[in-house]
Amino acid sequence: MFTFLYITSSKDSFIQLDTLLKQAGFECNFNHFKNDKELSNKDVIKEVDLIFCDQHFNDQNALDFLNRNELGDEIPVVVLAEDTTVSLARKTFKAGAFDYLNIHELSVPLIKEVLKSARHAKTEMQLRKNLEKRLDSIYANTRAILDNTTDGIWSLDKDGKVLIINSVAKDNIKEHGDTCPNVGESFFDAINPIFSNVWEPLFHKSLVGEHLVSVDKYTDGDYSFFLEVACSPIYSGKDVFGITFIARNVTERELAESKIRESEKNFRSVFTGSDVPIMLEAQSDNSIVDLNKACAQLHGYERIEMIGMNIFDTIPPDYIEQSQKNLQLYLKGEIDPLDSFVYTKNKEIIPVEISVAQIVYNDTPCNLIFLYDISQRKETEKKLKEARELAEKSAEFKSLFLANMSHEIRTPMNAMIGFTDLLKKTNLSEEQDEYIDIISNSGQDLLVIINDILDLSKIEAGKLKLRPRKFSLAEAVGRVIQLHKNNAKQKSIELLLQFDSEAPTEVCLDDTRLSQILNNLVSNAIKFTQEGQVIVKINTKETDGNELLQIIIEDSGIGIPQEELESIFENFNQVDSSLQRKYAGTGLGLSIVSQLIELMDGRISVSSEVGKGSRFEILLPEAEVIEAEHVSEVNRRKEIASAELKVLICEDNPVNVKLATKILLDLGVHYRVANNGKTGLEAVKSFDPDIVLMDLQMPVMDGYETTLEIRKFSEIPIIAMSAHVLEEEQKKCEEHGMNGFIPKPFKEGEIIDQISKYFKISGQKSKPEKDAGWTELNLPGLANLAKGDRVFALSILDLFIETAKKEAKLFKTALNAKNLDEQVRIAHKLLPTFLLLDMAQLHIIAQKIEEDKATNEDRLFFLKRLTQQIEEIQKKRSSFKP
Ligand code: ADP
Repeated sequence: MFTFLYITSSKDSFIQLDTLLKQAGFECNFNHFKNDKELSNKDVIKEVDLIFCDQHFNDQNALDFLNRNELGDEIPVVVLAEDTTVSLARKTFKAGAFDYLNIHELSVPLIKEVLKSARHAKTEMQLRKNLEKRLDSIYANTRAILDNTTDGIWSLDKDGKVLIINSVAKDNIKEHGDTCPNVGESFFDAINPIFSNVWEPLFHKSLVGEHLVSVDKYTDGDYSFFLEVACSPIYSGKDVFGITFIARNVTERELAESKIRESEKNFRSVFTGSDVPIMLEAQSDNSIVDLNKACAQLHGYERIEMIGMNIFDTIPPDYIEQSQKNLQLYLKGEIDPLDSFVYTKNKEIIPVEISVAQIVYNDTPCNLIFLYDISQRKETEKKLKEARELAEKSAEFKSLFLANMSHEIRTPMNAMIGFTDLLKKTNLSEEQDEYIDIISNSGQDLLVIINDILDLSKIEAGKLKLRPRKFSLAEAVGRVIQLHKNNAKQKSIELLLQFDSEAPTEVCLDDTRLSQILNNLVSNAIKFTQEGQVIVKINTKETDGNELLQIIIEDSGIGIPQEELESIFENFNQVDSSLQRKYAGTGLGLSIVSQLIELMDGRISVSSEVGKGSRFEILLPEAEVIEAEHVSEVNRRKEIASAELKVLICEDNPVNVKLATKILLDLGVHYRVANNGKTGLEAVKSFDPDIVLMDLQMPVMDGYETTLEIRKFSEIPIIAMSAHVLEEEQKKCEEHGMNGFIPKPFKEGEIIDQISKYFKISGQKSKPEKDAGWTELNLPGLANLAKGDRVFALSILDLFIETAKKEAKLFKTALNAKNLDEQVRIAHKLLPTFLLLDMAQLHIIAQKIEEDKATNEDRLFFLKRLTQQIEEIQKKRSSFKP
């Protein structure tokens, strides 16, 4: 069913067309001419399949209608004309007519033909319409996308005119130029040259088919930014139809990347240029990712050889496991620095100190390892250690040497001085007497110098130990004054002592050393004073809240120049150091004085004026006095007696046993004697003593070994007894677990000291009593010990005679048999007895024999002298009545 509309003002024409249509076989619903109003009713026209329109109708014509007809695209319009002309036909077709026919030439076949093609045209028109609708929606979507993206997007045709451009692009372009080209306008002419300079070349390249991406920096005045521009050709078939641009602002990304690039550049320059060997190790497989030249050199490889190597091939094989453990500890922060070793290509081992940082390098977790070659340092440390050990050894040797020297030198000096004094008592000519005086005085002087040198060396070696004890300050200072009274008198100088009433009468200090200090200063004061006086002032002085003992030695002597005062306490320093100087001396005295005072935690200062005199001030802290020290000796003895102590004496020498038992008996102490270490050990178990006195050299088991055995089951106090007074010896005793040390021959006071110490009863050494009755015996050591007990003294003499006779016989045999060991044994056994009985000569030779330093002559002399001494003692014993 076809619906037609015929726009005509002629009824005849209408009838003619209607007839023709029917003849052509169209069952048609035919609307004839409608007036203008109806024609503008779209709904009416919409229903129509084909419109016939007369060239002229009412006062109108088909061209106007066509130009007005908004539906022309949808409904085909056939224009019927009375007269047809070519120019009218062109106009009519141009206005959108589907066909243009002469009304007079209409025929059925023509009508059929027109209607067929009109139907076809209508279908096509509708198809096109749908297509356009779809295109429209696609366009709208695209537009929406384009306008909502953050990238600037635009397309240009081949001539550079805008085909499409989104708002982002427009805004950005406008931001850097006043205008933005619209669709159809030439793009590059309108935009800021900062863009066209970059984009136009891209556009031309793309025109020949290239796809390009370019990141560039744009600077507009002070403002800089980065754009990434992608440029692609748009094809129409095989030909390039236009170019699409997509521009994105990548300023942030570029700045971040440039920072990374910069830090990478810095890293590389540090890495490659550093003198410190550095390598990068991949954590996943321990392969070496990279290293610098210094690192390759350290390992003895070429750099390229090491890349890819396993790091464990650069560590000494024996050390790999340890190095892994250490690395873990280091990363946990438990050790720092990390010491390791490098294993070089030549299999050399170099000590290194390592620091490790964990980083990500080229997306790979790596260890950044810094290696510091410390072989030089290790070598220096080794040398220092060796030097220190050597120094310690030399100091040890020095102290040993000095301790020996002190004995070796002092003993013959004493003998020389002593015998010179004896010689003086014999009949001498005046000249001889004078010479003897000179020898005696020189000997005294030499002894002082030797003592100074030995003291100083001992202080410097740190071997000088103070032995503080409580004593009467007044008495000690009084003795010093007494000693120098004569000297002062000879020079007509007054030597005065001012003891302040506030000054302590008793102090706890090393009395021997304090006397040494005072003797030195007083003798200097007298030495350097020609007239006037020397005053010793004792007082107390409060300094920093502490009450200190103050001792001042003031003289009216020559004084000391100001510039010398600072160095006066240095070794060997003398104000007048010329060879022809007026005053004798070594320049050691003040140095020893100041060091001794320092040892006592005190200080010394000096002020002086040339020609007027000098003033030395000493400030000393008094060591704390232990209350128990006030206990009188009588009480101490009583306390020891009432404590009902049991003492075990481990000693093989009968004289020593006798001595010890005498002292212990006097003290009211129960004792038991063991003659060797083995029986001593058994006695500790069976007798259960409170204290053990332990000889060191004994048969079967010596004192050291016995102590070690006792220490396995008991903490009982063990006191060593030895003739060796070296500090090394005492240290050895301590190391073997002994608690105290008593030098042989022992004195009662020392035994009381030691016993008191372990039973919290302390006291001072007892002073030997003088008994005129003993002088004929001329054995002061024994007299001191016996304290008037003649029976005891006799028993000691008997014991000596018995033992010495036996040992002398054995020594003779050993001498003939050249049995050195036996000689050593005998010498050692008799040594303490020689000291006790004041047999200095024998003591010296016995020591030499013991230390294997004796010549054959010495040994022969020893036997001779021993035999003489036995005879002498026998004589003394017979004249000494109980
Ligand atoms: P010396 O054995 O030479 O006396 P010291 O160390 O005791 O050594 O003294 C060093 C020097 O200090 C002396 O040589 C002397 O020049 C100077 N001196 C020490 N005490 C006095 C003093 N009381 N008066 C003047 N000078 C002194």
